[in-house]
Amino acid sequence: MSVSKLPKLPSIRELIKIYNLKAKQQLSQNFIMDKNITDKIISLSGLELQNALCVEVGPGPGLLTRSILDSGAQNVVAVEKDPRFIPTLEQLREASDGRFQALLGDMLTVNHADIIQSGLNLGSNIDGEIKTFEFVHLVGNLPFGVATPLLIQWLHMLSLKQGIFNSPNVSMSLMFQKEVGDRITAGASDSARGRLSVVAQSVCDAFKIYNVPASGFVPRPKVDATVVQLRPLEKPLLKSSLGSLEHVVRFSFMKRRKMLARIFKDWDPERIALLEECEIDPTLRPQDVSTEKFCELAHIIEKRGIKLPY
Ligand code: SAM
Repeated sequence: MSVSKLPKLPSIRELIKIYNLKAKQQLSQNFIMDKNITDKIISLSGLELQNALCVEVGPGPGLLTRSILDSGAQNVVAVEKDPRFIPTLEQLREASDGRFQALLGDMLTVNHADIIQSGLNLGSNIDGEIKTFEFVHLVGNLPFGVATPLLIQWLHMLSLKQGIFNSPNVSMSLMFQKEVGDRITAGASDSARGRLSVVAQSVCDAFKIYNVPASGFVPRPKVDATVVQLRPLEKPLLKSSLGSLEHVVRFSFMKRRKMLARIFKDWDPERIALLEECEIDPTLRPQDVSTEKFCELAHIIEKRGIKLPY
């Protein structure tokens, strides 16, 4: 397959100047200006290009979008909340040879059916031959202010196979603040281990693929960033609803320095039996418990309708 490339376009710096696109802090706008960085993010993401839908969150002026399109992607739909970027994204659509569409909207509330329909209207699917996408890639230099709520929402949708996550192969390559990326990927006993680690790893394999220093963004944020790849587990560890697991980990990590025996005893001494039933060592602290064990615990608690104290 020959790889379609974009024609020469004005630089992102020029576009920002022409359209006077000053970064808005309330929308977590930190732009990448160096195409070597965005190309690297996409090459390390390992996009499947055949019959794939690529969804970008928060394209802003569109440098990461250019890298996605330069990789040869045929169906790229981006969701951007800030209407000021629509003219630059429209320019990119015109240059994309029918491979790109931007939707103005909030990724937290957008209707996924609209994203899928926009993808189906693009490029190779104009005749409507392809009714579903075999691969879905979710990509984005996420707005840091809503990155965690977005991820939690997507994990819920993934666990229920809803929206763009109702596809045989889904992958996410997402840029987070480094500290959040550390939490998502931390294994048991890692000091960064927390609620987000367990919830994410109950349904996905999560690993870091690329670190970008704060100096790689304009304006420069206070912290470095990292791109995390999340791929759904073939056999998810999750045995309950994701909501029940979230509840159990929230309860357990509330007193993260204490042993589980103490946490459960403070709740109700009889509840220590739940730990024994799941073969969880009660002398462990929450951060030392494997994702698998938390999933078992959530399963029993949900199945028996046990109410946690908070
Ligand atoms: N992709 C560009 C880049 O890498 O240079 C911009 C990334 S910037 C960190 C985050 C982008 O997400 C901004 O363009 C911002 O307007 C957009 N954004 C913020 N909140 C959003 C939301 N809820 N839904 C969609 N886009 C959002």
